[in-house]
Amino acid sequence: MKERILDVRGLTVGYGLGDDAVRAVRDVDLTLHKGEVLGLAGESGSGKSTLAYGMTRLLPPPGVVTGGEVIYHLEDGTSVDLLRLPDADLRRLRWSEIAIVFQGAINSLNPVQRISTQLIDVLKAHSPGTPHRARQDKARELLTLVGIATDRLHSYPHQLSGGMRQRVMIAMALALQPRVVIMDEPTTALDVVVQRQILRTLVDLRERLGFSVVFITHDLSLLVEFSDRIAIMYAGQVVEEAQSAELYRTPLHPYSDGLLRSFPALKGPRRDLAGIPGSPPDLRMMPSGCAFHPRCPRALDVCDSQTPALGQSRQNRSVACWLHPVAVP
Ligand code: ATP
Ligand code: SF4
Repeated sequence: MKERILDVRGLTVGYGLGDDAVRAVRDVDLTLHKGEVLGLAGESGSGKSTLAYGMTRLLPPPGVVTGGEVIYHLEDGTSVDLLRLPDADLRRLRWSEIAIVFQGAINSLNPVQRISTQLIDVLKAHSPGTPHRARQDKARELLTLVGIATDRLHSYPHQLSGGMRQRVMIAMALALQPRVVIMDEPTTALDVVVQRQILRTLVDLRERLGFSVVFITHDLSLLVEFSDRIAIMYAGQVVEEAQSAELYRTPLHPYSDGLLRSFPALKGPRRDLAGIPGSPPDLRMMPSGCAFHPRCPRALDVCDSQTPALGQSRQNRSVACWLHPVAVP
């Protein structure tokens, strides 16, 4: 049995309260195991970023977590609920145990400071007692780790390519040897070749260093290549979860199938590219029944009135769709 590191249970997050609230994440369950890359995919607006911000308590107002728990299993065998942890304890866990690289982080590098200063600042903030020399050595080691020559240490961010800046962000995330790295669309600003090189580096580092990754993107073909397991989100809910290869071979949910047909895969058998007609629902006025039914090419009579729950289907797969009813024990 694989060791669990993070258990999200019933996480519900909205923007605002009351009837006008945007229900961006609804009752999501997710498990991250030690050393695995868990991919989270879905169209823009499906709630991926809200989930990442909500589970790490970094959600800016008017975002509110209205339910659920996020259990983090520490190395000593104890567990804490991140949603209920005192602020000071949570701050200690961030970066040292759980590092987060959010969308646009690449632009958050300080343009007037050298890379060395910025890496050393991260190290200084979390281990103030370490001698300066040791921090410099560590900064050099981190750059090497992400495939950047150490003579770039004294460069300013504008002197680096987008791909190199992204690698610096990964180096920063890994500075304190976290056990979990959460990355939200970290490579979307880069071209596909550089995106893949960076993800390859990340996956190689994961194998060497043993951390776990939650990788968020709308590009399912990237996840199929680089993650072990994939959870597909639609309208704030996880609608299918499977091993990457299994999902690629036989997506069960029509939305997963549509997403797979929306991006050309660089590897594996060819698929016709079709895309998904229509657009995601307004989260303040969700359709009745299955949220995907207005766009679903395979909708059944039951789909517009009854909501399918995520459960184990007869094929022993985790899916929320009336085409694959939950197996009766
Ligand atoms: P993207 O890939 O575009 O980042 P996403 O899947 O990460 O999309 P979220 O950014 O989590 O989706 O957004 C989920 C829903 O919450 C969307 O419908 C979005 O419009 C809504 N939302 C996000 N931020 C706010 C906000 N500050 N106020 C109101 N609604 C918001
Ligand atoms: Fe389509 Fe119905 Fe399955 Fe929803 S439950 S994805 S509408 S078949």
